[in-house]
Amino acid sequence: MELHPYRIGMRTRFRGITVREGLVLRGEAGWGEFSPFLDYDGDEIRPWRTAALEAAEQGFPEPVREAVPVNVTVPAVGAQQAHQVVRGSGCSTAKVKVAEPGQSLADDLARVEAVRDALGPGGRVRVDANGLWEHDQALAALRELARFELEYAEQPVATTEGLARLRRDLVRHGVDVPIAADESIRRSGDPERVKQLEAADVAVLKVQPLGGVRRCLQLADDLGMPVVVSSALETAIGIRMGIALAAALPELPFACGLNTVRLLDDDLADPPLVAIDGVLPVATVEPSETQLARYAPEPGRADFWTRRLEQAR
Ligand SMILES: [Mg+2]
Repeated sequence: MELHPYRIGMRTRFRGITVREGLVLRGEAGWGEFSPFLDYDGDEIRPWRTAALEAAEQGFPEPVREAVPVNVTVPAVGAQQAHQVVRGSGCSTAKVKVAEPGQSLADDLARVEAVRDALGPGGRVRVDANGLWEHDQALAALRELARFELEYAEQPVATTEGLARLRRDLVRHGVDVPIAADESIRRSGDPERVKQLEAADVAVLKVQPLGGVRRCLQLADDLGMPVVVSSALETAIGIRMGIALAAALPELPFACGLNTVRLLDDDLADPPLVAIDGVLPVATVEPSETQLARYAPEPGRADFWTRRLEQAR
């Protein structure tokens, strides 16, 4: 199998990282991406490999749609920049990072207000706290943020039990903000628990950390709740795996978080796989030879990624 390690800078610090790296591989059916974040280790990186090999060796299930609506992702930037990011995106749904360490609720409110203003009343706004709020903080923040008519709040607190408790308390306080589970699905080791505890209204599925498109389709069916497909900040090759899932789901009520190539300095595909008018097409995606060569890391780093793929076996 052909392996191509890559290393591409990020436009804005996101998820605490400034460089995205991994490898893409080509098999009989096409291309796959293996790019577990560096804070993933041991057994956690195994599903990332399974997903990459599924894409390269088996290809994707039959799509039921030809295009996938996507959201623009707004990092924890200032209000003015947030406004510009949304206006330049062509998307009518925005996902806004909140609860960034070192920032305050006032920063979140200013950012979400700017995004709501940029989208207009017809747009949809969701927030993502990546589990960084404590219960009381989440309750206080969502009571304030609710005035911007949130589509949902993604992983406001860290644990599945915490999500369930917050969801009950929001209802009790008359705060109409649905909850989406992300880390509780892909890192808890027990996605079914989200369903058992009634911890969320929406499930966020990511193809690499959950072990492939087919496994995600099964999980969506088991969970029996609406699904949003999001990326793991991949290049076009990994994004195409997310598109395959979004394209094959029987229902797709929300815009997906697959427009994240915009957060990278560049892409392995040329032109980069970014949405036009808020949608990504369901079409073949391949890296360009030039881009593979341009973003190949130095040999030591390439070896690291080849070994990491082997360790994930
Ligand atoms: Mg998330």
